[in-house]
Amino acid sequence: MIVDAHVHLFPDRLAEAIRRWFSDHAWEIRYRIGVTEAVRTLREGGVGRMVALPYAHKPGMARALNDFTLVISREHPEIVPCCTVFPGEEGAEEILEEALAGPFAGVKIHSHVMRVAPDDERLDPVFRACARHQKPLVIHCGREPASEGYGIDVRAISGAARLRRALARHPDTICIVPHLGWDEPAEFEAMLDEFEHLYLDTTMAIAGWFPGGPDPEMLRRRPDRILYGTDFPNLPYEWSRELDVVRALRLPASDEARVLGGTAARLFGIA
Ligand SMILES: [Zn+2]
Repeated sequence: MIVDAHVHLFPDRLAEAIRRWFSDHAWEIRYRIGVTEAVRTLREGGVGRMVALPYAHKPGMARALNDFTLVISREHPEIVPCCTVFPGEEGAEEILEEALAGPFAGVKIHSHVMRVAPDDERLDPVFRACARHQKPLVIHCGREPASEGYGIDVRAISGAARLRRALARHPDTICIVPHLGWDEPAEFEAMLDEFEHLYLDTTMAIAGWFPGGPDPEMLRRRPDRILYGTDFPNLPYEWSRELDVVRALRLPASDEARVLGGTAARLFGIA
């Protein structure tokens, strides 16, 4: 079964605000669709499960976003719900504990959107909660895509060295870094040997859309530690481009199966 380990499904109004932000600061999102159509699009393309990663851009909205994600996962069994929390917000530890003791499969943190470095102590409770429940932390902590639209120098609060400091404190936390660690793929790949619970996902990194991306051959070297994910529907290109790239690598069947879903199923507890 193919698992897309990285999709973003938001309430319509928030999704529209995100599309506007992307238009102003990043790229034109090609898929201007709601949850039901998004699920159908991936399902018809052969994706059996999709891991929904909500993220909050300010305090006080995590609970509502998490509730929304849980509701859509009950309407669409293809959706695997993850939760989010805004670092340091009031009740953060309770939000995490409730969610992870319950039906949520992992946590999403976005260092740029939340303006928090991976080694910021406000994230320690998140790393700890994920380790305690053995559920993954998907953390966008790479430096790219950097944008002034975040209102902070995101490159200064991101990067492999900062994640290394965090993982040195939390070596038992299952951590998934999107975009194959763009723009430091060699540094993140080397860290796979240092930290046995560290993984990378392919989101937007192997589509060949942006110049200078990581080498897709990384999948051949580390099929045990890389998950297929798309960032759907917030894409400027056809979502299946990366699926085509994975298949064109002609990996050994067992390796391809791990990348396209086996590892995600294991980490996110997908039956
Ligand atoms: Zn994403």
